[in-house]
Amino acid sequence: MPKKKVHKVAKSLGLSSAALLKLLKEMGIMVKSHMSVLSDEDEKKVKHKISEDKKRVKKEFTRRYSRPKVKEKKKKIDPVAIKEKIKSTLAKMEKKETRKHYKREVRAKVEVKPTEKIVEITDFMTVADLAQAMKLPTTDVIKKCLDMGLMVSLNQRLDLDTLTVMSDEFGYDVKVMSVEDQIATDVEVDRLERPPVVTIMGHVDHGKTTLLDSITKLRTVEEEYGRITQRMAAYQIEYHNRTITFLDTPGHEAFTAMRARGAQVTDIVILVVAADDGVMPQTIEAIDHALAASVPIIVCINKIDLPGSNVNRVKTQLAKANVVVEDFGGKSICVETSALKGIGIADVLDAVLVKAEELKLTAPFDKTAKGVVIEARLDRGKGNVSTILVQEGNLKKGDPFVCGAHFGRVRELFDQQSNRITEAGPSTAVLVLGFSGLPQAGEVFLAVDNERRAREIASQRQLIERMRKLKAKSKVTLLDLQEKIKAGETKELRLILKADSAGSTEALDEKLNELSMEDVAVRVVHKGVGKINVSDVLLAEVTGAICVGFHVGPDTNALDAAEREGVEIRTYRLIYEALDDLRSAMVGLLEPIITEILVGEAEVREIFTIPKVGLIFGCYMKDGKVLYGAIARVMREGKEIIASKVTSLKRFKEDAKEVLAGYECGIGLEQDGDLQKGDTIQFYKIEETAAGDGK
Ligand code: GDP
Repeated sequence: MPKKKVHKVAKSLGLSSAALLKLLKEMGIMVKSHMSVLSDEDEKKVKHKISEDKKRVKKEFTRRYSRPKVKEKKKKIDPVAIKEKIKSTLAKMEKKETRKHYKREVRAKVEVKPTEKIVEITDFMTVADLAQAMKLPTTDVIKKCLDMGLMVSLNQRLDLDTLTVMSDEFGYDVKVMSVEDQIATDVEVDRLERPPVVTIMGHVDHGKTTLLDSITKLRTVEEEYGRITQRMAAYQIEYHNRTITFLDTPGHEAFTAMRARGAQVTDIVILVVAADDGVMPQTIEAIDHALAASVPIIVCINKIDLPGSNVNRVKTQLAKANVVVEDFGGKSICVETSALKGIGIADVLDAVLVKAEELKLTAPFDKTAKGVVIEARLDRGKGNVSTILVQEGNLKKGDPFVCGAHFGRVRELFDQQSNRITEAGPSTAVLVLGFSGLPQAGEVFLAVDNERRAREIASQRQLIERMRKLKAKSKVTLLDLQEKIKAGETKELRLILKADSAGSTEALDEKLNELSMEDVAVRVVHKGVGKINVSDVLLAEVTGAICVGFHVGPDTNALDAAEREGVEIRTYRLIYEALDDLRSAMVGLLEPIITEILVGEAEVREIFTIPKVGLIFGCYMKDGKVLYGAIARVMREGKEIIASKVTSLKRFKEDAKEVLAGYECGIGLEQDGDLQKGDTIQFYKIEETAAGDGK
């Protein structure tokens, strides 16, 4: 029988002699060295073993890696980076920058990289739309989705992230098309000078309202212009034959909210600082917001009539906070006023005009209008009304428009004196009637050519909004962060830190930094003194941080924002509790506590038997709300008689996700025996919080 030496067999199998020797040993075939000989039979056995091993490995590999290949790729994406990308994309959609970029890139395509492919996408377009946009058969796109572990159908809508990844897979760069891009006309219009838009900011009680009042009075007295009959969120004054628009925003939140929506409406910030009180936390906050938005600041040192006033001290404090006034060698104009006594008011207005001159503010006048919602409310007589600051073009009565997810036709336009007007140009604030619903502050208002188009765009936006809400379920919580740390998806525990005093903030910050370990670091994104406010929550949302309050809690607006944006706020009274919790999260030992939270209460008023469905309880919502899927506890005379779950929820004949207090609804329960008219049903939602929350 022919025999071969080990090293020859190894070579024929593509193995090293040593590897083959090891394998032979494992198989119980005894050979001494690579020069030993191997029988034909043994060679066959080895070949068989190797081929079996290969098959096994291949099978195992396919099982483990073929699908998640892409998942793994997805995993590597930093969720914070994704969020930021989404934010910037959304901002781009809002800012209409895309078109310009598009033009630039298309040019680049021709000049530099002729092979570069660009696909225009809109948020939540369908798989079929995407395929069409890339001029590819839909089956290719669906197949690629399946390869990536995504089960999709032809008409399934994909979010911006998935659309981007998919386009990338096919070698396309994406261009996100916003609604504005879809309706933008390329007509170039001459730009003309427009009035400046000014926001007054500063610490509470430093005199913002009084300053605005004296400015209004000055105008009223000097120009005999008539009283402002209706306080609008924005209004204009005439001064030295020039117009100035003031935004009357309550606090800094409106400013932040608008910025968060990508709306930059303010040209100049007047920073009011009381001469007797000096720079305070909200002064710093105002400065941070203005600087972050690159808006020039005019400093107004107010209350100079008070005996304790010290203008120089304020200027020094401001310099420390990065606002250097002119006589300290800086750029910021500084005026001294007594808003109460009407001293220096004209100087403030002069300073605004000087700054406006410097900024050379212009806008196109002769085109369809574009603006921003400053405020919206439901008026008893007028219905949905909204104050719009027109930024470009001319808004006319009768114009169809789209604003956020709403649309309409301008039914009436009112100026700040409640006079009916027929049109309004750039930098003018007007009250607009004719909205289909209430828009939110900061939303872009766009006049369009026809109402049908407005309706189409609005419904597209509503859809996007709905999809976004569905997606926005992912929360930034300590428990989630723990999971991400465990999965190796993040190596940072990001925090927004607020405390009752600068001392505690510093102490906690220092201690938290000591917590940093080799593979997980604590990063305090922002720290400050005072309650957790909306800005903190927004900052937490964009940076993927949680808010930690030490001896301070959130204010009501912050609580709403946290709920809306899915940001966790944790409050502590003891340093070691805070440190323990965060340390536990970092090492993965935080245990969730499941809590039932009462969300609403209903009274059973009717009981219907519906064939094939069962019992439906006609209820009146007395308090809070009922949510589909909520835990339901039926109470009679203060005692719980049934624990169940809401399995169907209807308003009239329509399925509803939730029904609020004051409404009637039909409720179906999982366990519903023995319910009677007059019983009360309490509804609970489950909330998972991390253990040790010092709330
Ligand atoms: P805001 O919270 O910044 O809007 O402050 P306000 O305008 O409501 O003013 C707070 C308090 O300071 C009020 O009692 C005003 O009358 C007072 N105040 C405002 N400006 C001046 C000023 O120039 N001098 C003095 N003495 N008091 C002022």
